[in-house]
Amino acid sequence: VLNMNALEINQLYKRYDNDFLAVKGINLEVKQGDFFALLGANGAGKSTTIGIVASLVNKTSGTVKVYGHDLDTDPEGVKRCLGLVPQEFNFNQFENVFDIVVSQAGYYGIPRKKALERAEICLKQLELWGKRNEAARELSGGMKRRLMIARALVHEPKLLILDEPTAGVDIEIRRSMWRFFKEINAAGTTIILTTHYLEEAESLCKHIAIINKGNVIENMDMKGLLEKADEEVFVLSLE
Ligand code: ATP
Repeated sequence: VLNMNALEINQLYKRYDNDFLAVKGINLEVKQGDFFALLGANGAGKSTTIGIVASLVNKTSGTVKVYGHDLDTDPEGVKRCLGLVPQEFNFNQFENVFDIVVSQAGYYGIPRKKALERAEICLKQLELWGKRNEAARELSGGMKRRLMIARALVHEPKLLILDEPTAGVDIEIRRSMWRFFKEINAAGTTIILTTHYLEEAESLCKHIAIINKGNVIENMDMKGLLEKADEEVFVLSLE
């Protein structure tokens, strides 16, 4: 279907067990092929929203659809379409790089032979093939971040969600990650990125939304962002 959205979020709410309302009626549409930035200060609700889409957090109410698959009725369809790079390194530090990517393929039910092929392709794409036999803990921070990305791509997701993928990564590696994200987006993967760096959103994204205290307060294309970037209220909403 040509006009299907990659992601559709309607009236999403999340109340945590401690009664804190972290997401308060978010609506969001991300088009197929888009490179979409989700901006907002610490605690705005970005990770909660992403966590819900990735089935890591239970929503309180609202609907989420990924490439037409409804999270409530077709979570398997959502899982197949989605690759997530969370903020925290969540692989086994003692496992080797190759096995980490291969086991992720197993999680998606990919047969062994295909899993080995996909792991090789993804590790080569992220320039980690030479490190395949090393334990993850031997890698530098930037390499670990790239390992998270290789792993998230193993099942060829149509939608890739990157939660602050370049936090704490030095500028050289950051630039090469940006080039890589642009390449896979140009090749057809829809990308949603959360970041605190306005510069990162500017250089990568076609559309942006700003979340503040659990609500989307701005939703615009990059031209709109550049026009607003100097406004004090805009800058404040990111701090
Ligand atoms: P950051 O940029 O720091 O990652 P964020 O925009 O991703 O911030 P969230 O991590 O979604 O924000 O957090 C939104 C709010 O929900 C915060 O106030 C946070 O303290 C709260 N919160 C997150 N997880 C929980 C939890 N498990 N229980 C209670 N409150 C939580």
